[in-house]
Amino acid sequence: MTIYSTTGRGALYNSIVETVGDTPCVKLNRTGPPHVSMYVKVESFNPLASVKDRLALNIIEAAERDGTLTPGQTVVEATSGNTGIGLAMVCAAKGYPLVITMAESFSIERRRLMRFLGAKVVLTPKEERGIGMYNTAKKLAEDNGWFFARQFENAANADIHESTTGREIVADFKGTALDYWVTGYGTGGTVTGVARVLRSERPDCKIVLSEPHNATLIGSGVAQERNTDDSPTGSHPAWEPHVIQGWTPDFIPKVLQEGIDRSFFDEVRPVDGTKGMAIAQHLAANEGILTGVSGGSTLLTAIEVAESAPEGSVILVMLPDTGERYLSTPLFEAIPAEMNDEELALFASTR
Ligand code: PMP
Repeated sequence: MTIYSTTGRGALYNSIVETVGDTPCVKLNRTGPPHVSMYVKVESFNPLASVKDRLALNIIEAAERDGTLTPGQTVVEATSGNTGIGLAMVCAAKGYPLVITMAESFSIERRRLMRFLGAKVVLTPKEERGIGMYNTAKKLAEDNGWFFARQFENAANADIHESTTGREIVADFKGTALDYWVTGYGTGGTVTGVARVLRSERPDCKIVLSEPHNATLIGSGVAQERNTDDSPTGSHPAWEPHVIQGWTPDFIPKVLQEGIDRSFFDEVRPVDGTKGMAIAQHLAANEGILTGVSGGSTLLTAIEVAESAPEGSVILVMLPDTGERYLSTPLFEAIPAEMNDEELALFASTR
């Protein structure tokens, strides 16, 4: 069905934050083996174009509710980008100053977007990894009396995926089969929160968790050591730098630990992020759907699951963000800015 007329959304919104969530699940028509149906949940429909808008909103609103965040107080967070962009949107809309700590290795457009949204971005050396970003944010919070969002430990993270993302999936697949749900993890908020819902409402749905093939933290079976405040004591031995921005930090986050402890996934599959990038480009060119490296990698995992899935299986794949967030990264490296021979010939034919 193509919509040619509309009655609008049937509501006026009082703030951009009210538009977070309710992202569409869209069928793929030219991707994956023909004996299955594949759907993608397109998180780029969120106002700042990623799944992390959800957690950003809930971390701020949960802290407003319990009084740990006071009007005008500065918010600080360590993030690889999407959480910072989401927080920058929420903080701008609600009037909180925001300071982000981010490893210098993440994409330039992420820093500039956050600064455009009014946030300050403190870059940390890439050798210090995710833990360096985290410790810098923690020190700034302690020294200045700021509110530390702590997405890796904050219960408000998985909670919002339980109350929104998971509920949306159950509502949209009401009366329809749902055999597999495929996702990756960064903090683990998405998998833990959605799985709480799927395990009770759709117990037959298999949950497949994907992680970088050169950073198989869960696949290794090695437990994460933690401090008393739930933060990691150090890098996990199975971690290596990988190309999937936003996925698998160098430690197993506390939020993800609930998912591990409660057996919230039926299978963990390693994926090659470079191959995931090729799938992201396939998705753009064949389905008209723009996603980033994590979305491409999740989709590649889902296609591999699909190949051995029974006839008629229905598979839902999370697409956490948009491809536009990666213009300066290897995702777009092979895409030329200049005309190729065919384009030059087309131009020449008009002269
Ligand atoms: N993909 C991207 C691009 C992300 O930024 C994130 C969040 N860091 C994820 C996937 C994973 O989401 P979650 O933190 O809920 O596990």
